[in-house]
Amino acid sequence: MPPISDSRKRILVTGGAGFLGSHLIDRLLEQGHEVICADNLFSSTKRNIDHLHANPRFEFLRHDVCFPLYVEVDEIYNLACPASPIHYQHDPIQTLKTSVHGAINMLGLAKRLKCKILQASTSEVYGDPVTHPQTEEYRGNVNPIGPRACYDEGKRAAETLFFDYHRQAGVPIKVMRIFNTYGPRMHRQDGRVVSNFIVQALLGQPITIYGDGSQTRSFCYVDDLIDGMMRLMASPPDVIGPINIGNTREFTILELAQMVIEITGSRSQIVSKPLPGDDPKQRQPDITKAREKLGWEPTAPLRQGLSHTVAYFRELLADEIGAAGEKLAV
Ligand code: NAD
Ligand code: UDP
Repeated sequence: MPPISDSRKRILVTGGAGFLGSHLIDRLLEQGHEVICADNLFSSTKRNIDHLHANPRFEFLRHDVCFPLYVEVDEIYNLACPASPIHYQHDPIQTLKTSVHGAINMLGLAKRLKCKILQASTSEVYGDPVTHPQTEEYRGNVNPIGPRACYDEGKRAAETLFFDYHRQAGVPIKVMRIFNTYGPRMHRQDGRVVSNFIVQALLGQPITIYGDGSQTRSFCYVDDLIDGMMRLMASPPDVIGPINIGNTREFTILELAQMVIEITGSRSQIVSKPLPGDDPKQRQPDITKAREKLGWEPTAPLRQGLSHTVAYFRELLADEIGAAGEKLAV
C-alpha cells in the first residue's frame, strides 16, 4: 500500500477518548501531528487516553459536541457518538442530538476554517439490508421508529448535512461508512458482541448468543480500520465518499462464539437469549471503492485480531479472572 503523505498539522478528533478515536490519536501523534481530543466521556473512560497526557502535542477538552466549539485546526475527524446499542439506546434523544447537532457544529467549524472534515458514519445506514453485500449505492432498509433509529437515522441525517454543507458551502468532506470493528480498548460493558464474548469467556460466564446465532457480521480489526480512515482523509479532494470500510469475511455469531472459546481456552457454555428488535440478519461490506480509491484492504484475519483483543482484556480483567478461577476451584 502507498504511504500516507503528510506534513505536521493540528487535528481535532471528536470522540477521541473512545475506542476508535484513541487508536486514531495514537497514530496521528506518531506521525508528528498536534491533536485536540474533544469528548464528553459519555461512553468511554479517560483510561484510553491516560498514556497521552505527557505528550505536549496532545490536548484533552471535556466537551459535548452538541454545543459549538471554537478551536483553530487544519483537519477534523468527527467520531463523537455512542456506538454500541446499549450506549446509544440509553438516552436516544441525546444520541440523535449528538449526530445532528454535533454534525452541524463541527461542519460550521470546518466551514469557518475552510478545513477538511471526516465523518465516522456507519453500516447501520443500510439498516437490515435486503441486498448483499452492501455497496455504497444501496439506500438501506431502516425502521425510522424502531429502537435503533436514534443511531441509524441520526447517522443518516449527519450524512445529509455533510453533503449539503459540501454542495452549498463548499466544505471539503469525507464520509466513511464503518462496518463492525473490534480490538483493544473496546469498553468492557458496551454490550457489543466481540467484547461481550471475550469478557464472558475469560470470566467463565455463559456466552450469550442472541437468537440462534445464524445472523452474520464481518469484523474488522481496529488497526486496519484506522489505516482506512487516515487514507480517506489523505485522499484527493474529489474522493468524498461515502465509502465503506470494513472486512469482507463474513462470520455467523455462533462461529464467532466458538472461535472466542477456542482462543481463550474457556469452559464457558453457549446460551441463547432473545434477539433484540431490528437486529440486522446479515452484514458484509462491498469494499471495491475503498480498494480502487484508497488502495485500502484489510489485512488482519479474525483469529489474529481476536488474539490481540483477548490479550488486552486478560490484562484489564486480571484481578477478576483470578477471583473467578478461585471460585471455580472451590
Ligand atoms: P465509542 O463509544 O468507544 O466512542 C465514541 C466516543 O464519543 C466516546 O468517547 C464518547 O464519550 C464520545 N461521545 C459521545 N457523545 C458525545 C458528545 N455528545 N460529545 C462529545 N463526545 C461524545 O465508540 P467507537 O466504536 O469508538 O465509535 C467511534 C465512531 O465510529 C462513532 O461515531 C461510531 O458511530 C462510529 N462507528 C463505529 C463502529 C465500530 O464498530 N466501532 C462501527 C460503525 C461506526
Ligand atoms: N450479539 C449476541 N450476543 C451478545 C451481543 C451481541 O449474539 O452478547 C449479537 C447481536 O444480536 C448482533 C451481533 O451480535 O446480531 C452484533 O452485535 P453488536 O451489538 O456487536 O453490533 P451490531 O448489531 O450493531 O452490528
